[in-house]
Amino acid sequence: MKYSFKGTSVLVSGAASGIGEATARLLAANGLAVVASDLQHDALARLVAAIEADGGRAVAHVGDVADPAAAEGAVRAAQQAYGSLSYAVNNAGIGGRLLPAGELPAEDWQRVIDINLSGVAHALRFQIPAMLAAGGGAIVNMSSILGLVGNPMAPAYVAAKHGVTGLSKSAALAYAAQGIRINSLHPGYVETPILGALDAQQRGALVGLHPMGRIGRADEIAHAVAFLLSDGASFVTGAALAVDGGYTAQ
Ligand code: NAD
Repeated sequence: MKYSFKGTSVLVSGAASGIGEATARLLAANGLAVVASDLQHDALARLVAAIEADGGRAVAHVGDVADPAAAEGAVRAAQQAYGSLSYAVNNAGIGGRLLPAGELPAEDWQRVIDINLSGVAHALRFQIPAMLAAGGGAIVNMSSILGLVGNPMAPAYVAAKHGVTGLSKSAALAYAAQGIRINSLHPGYVETPILGALDAQQRGALVGLHPMGRIGRADEIAHAVAFLLSDGASFVTGAALAVDGGYTAQ
């Protein structure tokens, strides 16, 4: 499938694995110059080499999304490599330990909020001025079905992802008239390392939550990202798009 983009460069966080990696590959294959950002240096180097071997353009940026200085550095890396930043996919995230709210240690809460919610806010603070300077752009913030509905065992994750949903709407409203579109994406369960090792019973339970009768693939989420960034989504901003095999329709 081909997507068209007026802009030229994209910053993808959490690009070393799973949804971020599939997204970086798809966007590069569709002509965007990629800044692939993550904590995992070696996996990033392999991704950059693979994109280049396929004829695309990519550079690696190693940084922690919870660190505002790294958020600034990622944007600067795009400007240095490609002259400007047109698009961003704020995708890096962690699952955190599965515990109900009454048993969640403060450190567990803080770590999930720092990465999954504050990480997106830090990113927007530096990406938006860069896109204004570039004459416009588009941003996809990776939320989750758990940014739309609850889960008894993931209070910090659910709070952070609901926060990303609201943060995305707020930013979309602030910049709608200035040529920057901002949307949140809400995947159902997707086959990536974040799910950890599942036994057959746990896998069956997850599959059963999705009316389509299966877990999603990373490339299916990547296609939704590509659409939301593309010229074809030119009237889409402030939207919360579920890509979840019907999970949140129930
Ligand atoms: P993944 O574990 O395969 O990839 C996450 C990537 O983020 C990893 O490469 C990791 O190194 C990176 N990362 C983690 N913490 C970081 C930090 N502090 N700074 C920079 N990079 C960091 O997981 P995934 O499934 O591809 O998840 C990507 C996003 O999609 C996450 O935000 C996740 O919450 C969301 N999501 C995943 C699912 C799912 O079922 N897989 C469902 C809904 C939403």
